[in-house]
Amino acid sequence: MKAAVLVDLRRIEFQDKPKPMIQSGEVLVKVEYCGICGSDVHGYQNGIVIPVGTVMGHELTGVVAEVGNGVHHVQPGDRVVVKPSAPCRSCYWCRRGQYSICPKRRKTTIGVNQGNDGAFAEYVRVRFPGQMLFKLPPGLQAKEGALAEPFSIALHGVRLSRFKSGDCAMIIGAGMIGLGVLQILKLERISKIIMLEISEERSQVARALGADIVLNPISEGEGLKDRIYELTDGIGADLVFDCAGVPMAFQTSMDCVKSGGQILVIGVYEQKVPFSLWDLLHREIEVKGVFSSNDEFQMVIELLSKGKINTDLFISDVISAKDLVKKGFEALLASKSLIKIIVKMDEWQ
Ligand SMILES: [Zn+2]
Ligand SMILES: [Zn+2]
Repeated sequence: MKAAVLVDLRRIEFQDKPKPMIQSGEVLVKVEYCGICGSDVHGYQNGIVIPVGTVMGHELTGVVAEVGNGVHHVQPGDRVVVKPSAPCRSCYWCRRGQYSICPKRRKTTIGVNQGNDGAFAEYVRVRFPGQMLFKLPPGLQAKEGALAEPFSIALHGVRLSRFKSGDCAMIIGAGMIGLGVLQILKLERISKIIMLEISEERSQVARALGADIVLNPISEGEGLKDRIYELTDGIGADLVFDCAGVPMAFQTSMDCVKSGGQILVIGVYEQKVPFSLWDLLHREIEVKGVFSSNDEFQMVIELLSKGKINTDLFISDVISAKDLVKKGFEALLASKSLIKIIVKMDEWQ
């Protein structure tokens, strides 16, 4: 089969690899669509989060090709949405329902390390189908299903937050996750959402999805903090969702959150960020990390199939496998306005 291997930084090679062999209890899935995630781009650019040597791709839908002994809930021909990882369900954290921080989960994740090839390939081996395979419901297109994984992270972020319906939230970054958080907060009837975004195209999408105010942090410059306080009756934002992962975003979060408020860090940071712990403690600010998802995957599939979450505005482009590098990774690096690129895993040349 064909597979796209990250052979070096900024170098992906299409290789012929043996089709994965499945064992009892496992499933082989023929990949239909796979989204390019921000963490794939981090891996491609500098090997952070995902190392060189990996077949990346973890936001996928496909068709069941083979099932191993003992697998009964899916059969060949079923169209499925694949959750890319499975928690162990027996460790300290899993017993408390905190599946996202199960220390054994990372090893099971497809597309983020060399031992577990991802979906920028014709086929992918699913080792824990009971936890990882969800039938594509009627009414949901396969390419939309590829958005389930990033949306589940957005939903996880909102569920981990101290959000209450009357709150004012600020979201930094109108990319896939930031816009996902926006949509979830709108469903939960939040009273006001302020979005910060530098790209005009993404800002338009944020407005279309119901952001009350969209500000460009660059053109606002030094006056940004004052603007946020003006917009929040001098209090500051109840919650800040940092979905940008750039050092300026964290400082902005600290500046604009209210005293006693909460910052959710969802964006992936490549660098260390200096900040004042004095600010944090004397204003009693809570900073909370958000990673992956717990049991939100199924909930998101449900929301998607009922049409409660918009997907059209999220999909910037659908490309073929042969264009993975030029129209995929390189396009994402070159543009600040793209949101999600979905790869249809056909046409390798
Ligand atoms: Zn991802
Ligand atoms: Zn566990």
